Parts: sequence; structure tokens; C-alpha cells
Amino acid sequence: MNIHAIPALNDNYIWAITDNERAIIVDPGEAEPVLTFLQDNQLTLDCILLTHHHDDHIGGVQDLTEKFDAVTIYGPTEVSELTTITVADGDCFDLWDQVVEVHLTAGHTEGHISYLMEEELFCGDALFSGGCGRVFIKDYDAAYQGMQYFNALPDSVRIYAGHEYTLTNLRFAEEIDPDNQAIKQTKEEVEALRDNKQPTLPSTIGVERKINLFMTADSVEQFKELRDQRDNF
Ligand SMILES: [Zn+2]
Repeated sequence: MNIHAIPALNDNYIWAITDNERAIIVDPGEAEPVLTFLQDNQLTLDCILLTHHHDDHIGGVQDLTEKFDAVTIYGPTEVSELTTITVADGDCFDLWDQVVEVHLTAGHTEGHISYLMEEELFCGDALFSGGCGRVFIKDYDAAYQGMQYFNALPDSVRIYAGHEYTLTNLRFAEEIDPDNQAIKQTKEEVEALRDNKQPTLPSTIGVERKINLFMTADSVEQFKELRDQRDNF
């Protein structure tokens, strides 16, 4: 099993999980780059996983399903008009030879979910490297609960988030926590990657524990304060 980043729109990543013949596509915000990827690698679209209802995560679903037959589409209730199987917090299902766990990671949207396949976490806009998604529904308790779920995962879990926001997140983090050497060092690594137009993802839970002030916030209040500051950064 391989995992590839397909850059899309301004700064989105659509994730492709592949074997020799098939692909699972996570959050196809547009169809074109996915179709090119599938064609270049001679792969069939087997399945789509959706994390939440925003257009830049679902915009390509219709075009993709018109081009391939029998695509299974998993997603939360908020995208039930698109899904063939609606999933919710605590659900598990088999995909290829893997078990996929579904976890509610709300706050960015009401029903945002993340998918954990062994050590691979597809977390949409709930968690980014060095940050987290905007809490559009203003439910900071829900968002904080999501952070507790992420923070409880093993260090080795890899994070496949929906956007390339790492550098801005770390510039913000450095301003808040200027003495944090891990943030400083990771920011330098991230700058080098971006200079070469390389993705900064996947990250890992172990790295995020050192650099992600949102994931390690001690309380809902602290999390909300950080989020307010980041919204105005
Ligand atoms: Zn979103």
C-alpha cells in the first residue's frame, strides 16, 4: 500500500492510497488532478473517503463517479447526498485488507470525521501540521475533544491533512512560543521543503506533540484563545 499527495486547488492535498491496480481517494476537492493521477499510474478508482462537507473536499466526487463504475463512497451524515455508505463516530469497516476506524473530530464542521487505517490518519481539516482547522461552528468543546483524540494516538501515527498550511502555522506558533526549539527547527525544515515545492505532509503525532500548540493545549479556554489569535494572525 502506497500513499501519494495529489496537490489540488490553491493549497489542498487530495490523498491517494494505492495498490498495483486500485486507488482509494480521500477528499477529492476537484476531479481533474485525480483523473490525471489515476491515468498516469493506470489505476482504477475503487473508493472515496470524505471527511466533511466543504466544497474543496467534495467538489470532484460527481465527475469521478461518472467516470468509474461501482465506486463506494464513505462519509459522514453531512455529505449523505454523496455517500453510498454513511459512517459515524466509532464505526469500523474493512477496506482492502485494512480496518478503518471512524472518529468524530468536529468543530471545523458539525460532523467532521477522521479515518484511521492502522498508523495512517486522514484528518481532513480537523488537524494540520502545526495547527488545526478554523472552528466554523464555534463549538470549541467539540474541537478540543478532537484534539484530545489526536493527542492520545501513538507517536508513530502519520498525519495526512487536507491543506499545506504548515509554514504559516509554524510562523504563528513561533510568535506565541518563541523559545520553543522544536518549532524553530521544524520551521527551518519546512521552509527548505517549500523552497523545493515539496509537501510538508505527512507529519506524525510524535512531531505534532512537540510543535502543535493546539493539539497540546491544556484546556478548552487555552485552545479557544489560541484559535482566536490564529484567526487574526
Ligand atoms: Zn474545510
